[in-house]
Amino acid sequence: MHLWTHDRWRFPLPAGHRFPLDKYALLRERVVADGTARPDEVHEPDPVPWEWLAAVHDGAMLERIRAGTLSVREQRGLGLPWSPALVERGRRAVAGSVAAARHAIEHGLGMNLGGGTHHAGRDFARGYCLFNDVAVALAHLRRDGLAERALVVDCDVHQGDGTAHLLGPDPHTFTLSLHGARNYPFQRIPSDLDVDLASGTGDARYLDALAEALDFAIPRAEAGFAFYLAGADPWEGDRLGRLALSKPGLLARDELVLDRLTAAGARVCVVLAGGYADDVRDTVDINAATAAAVARRLGAAT
Ligand SMILES: [Zn+2]
Repeated sequence: MHLWTHDRWRFPLPAGHRFPLDKYALLRERVVADGTARPDEVHEPDPVPWEWLAAVHDGAMLERIRAGTLSVREQRGLGLPWSPALVERGRRAVAGSVAAARHAIEHGLGMNLGGGTHHAGRDFARGYCLFNDVAVALAHLRRDGLAERALVVDCDVHQGDGTAHLLGPDPHTFTLSLHGARNYPFQRIPSDLDVDLASGTGDARYLDALAEALDFAIPRAEAGFAFYLAGADPWEGDRLGRLALSKPGLLARDELVLDRLTAAGARVCVVLAGGYADDVRDTVDINAATAAAVARRLGAAT
């Protein structure tokens, strides 16, 4: 299957920083080794034009990001040191989600090996998230008349505050976030449906809550297009999660979301969002299994 990545664009990080910069190259290798994608099917998009970002983000904030003049407070909230390379990589990550979304329009499903930066709101960039790729990709599809009503299914373990900030006011979009109740962000911007899960929630309770949330969201969204944030951080070994899903449990989650959305007639763009295992290879396992689940469904559709 076709996939998008920005793994070769790295940025300076202090030693021991929790952001898993090595994940992306390992994941590219892994999806090729698994036979999910041929090497020539893994694409490297050019950075998105600033105007595309300006379609959803505040112009003054974008200018501070571009020029490297974020305030000390903004810099601390972002949690990643500003550099020109960080900004370039962020623009490439958004471009991957736009390309994957366009692919989904044509083929039913698309996936970016990155993106899901859901803590970026209209005028704030925080929690390792510079730009909100999902909001930018949706605006792009709408601009070209390719999508209108949309559903965001956010299964990252952290609540999708930035996405709620951007898409909450939009009556044609339904935002669903399933996350750990006692986890970042501690001040929430409400989604259309937020499902707070107790610390230690395991596979069975998680999957029940997810199925119930999808039952509620899908008929209300009436969406022709959906974004799925397949965060790896609800995994039991994650450093920043507080939930206790197993790897098979996470795969069952992916399959449930993909099957329910496609059965409802939605085209689906899958993005990675977070994953902070002690050993980055565990996060890569989870992300690669998501990609393989998408590939199996693409194969069945065509
Ligand atoms: Zn997360």
